[in-house]
Amino acid sequence: MIAFFAGGRRPRSGAAPSRRASDGRAPYTQPMQRFARLTLAIAIACTTASTALADEPLRVRIFAAGHADATLIRVPSGEVILFDAGRGDASWLGDNLVKRRLLPFFRAQGIKRIDAFFISHAHWDHFGDIAALAAGVRIGHIYVNRDSDHHLGSELAATGVPRTILARGKTVRFGKLTIDILGPPPSRRPRRMSIGPINNNSLVLRLRYGRTRFLLPGDVMRGGERRLLREGRLGRVDVLKLGHHGLHTPVKGWLARLRPKFAVASCGDKWRQRVDYVPRGLLSALRRRRVTLLRTDRDGDIVFASDGRQVTVRRERAHRYVPAWLAARRRARASRSRPRRAKVRRQ
Ligand SMILES: [Zn+2]
Repeated sequence: MIAFFAGGRRPRSGAAPSRRASDGRAPYTQPMQRFARLTLAIAIACTTASTALADEPLRVRIFAAGHADATLIRVPSGEVILFDAGRGDASWLGDNLVKRRLLPFFRAQGIKRIDAFFISHAHWDHFGDIAALAAGVRIGHIYVNRDSDHHLGSELAATGVPRTILARGKTVRFGKLTIDILGPPPSRRPRRMSIGPINNNSLVLRLRYGRTRFLLPGDVMRGGERRLLREGRLGRVDVLKLGHHGLHTPVKGWLARLRPKFAVASCGDKWRQRVDYVPRGLLSALRRRRVTLLRTDRDGDIVFASDGRQVTVRRERAHRYVPAWLAARRRARASRSRPRRAKVRRQ
């Protein structure tokens, strides 16, 4: 399986060198060689076309949501799946990502129904404004873990949408897309509201589409990674969404087991601290393994497409996230710097 950028520039860090540059072969110059190369290219294109799963690719959009998560999955057979719909960096200041970004995006794309809404765990940067979401778009089914079912029970019940509790070992299918639930382990009792245990208990989704794989582990931290490694169900993936917004360096063996081509950090301007909080250990581990790092704070929305054989990616920088408080400050500054019209006194 070959992964490549569908367009745009190469990423700043961790990009694999091109195959032609690395093997050092001289370019084709003779007519026969050129003919052979053309024939090979046509053969590869025909093979790809005949074995691809559908004309339309599977699309996975990771929204630039600041320190929050929202991933939209569109299956070629028409199903639309949303994994998380967080509130953005400054929810307590009135930022509402569902109203400000997701619902307008759905309207622009003609999305009137979300067939399945998965919530990774019961933290505000993942479940967002459930009432606004349910009011703005029809939701077919909600999937949660035991903790979210308990802590968000009344909010979820108010939507009137049926819901199912998922845990490790379950599988959900949408057309030719299979979603394996790799975590959390089944439990009868919900965990107390906290940070570490609730994060490590996130719903962990593995998308399988043809031969391509995406791992979406919610906010699992090092403890959750260790458990997933121990359980032994992990394998190679094309795309790894970094656990807990890329805030920690993964445990030993995590990247070696997954061997991702792309890693995505859904990170932002963390609580107004303008610091780069993707740790150096993580950056160097990705660089060592030649994993292409994509970050929603710098790259905007990240959009993957899979035809079942290969994954391509594009970055939509126009959608870089601006927290509501920063947008308000910019507006105020712009209005202050605008020259005032001179008052003309009538004679
Ligand atoms: Zn989070």
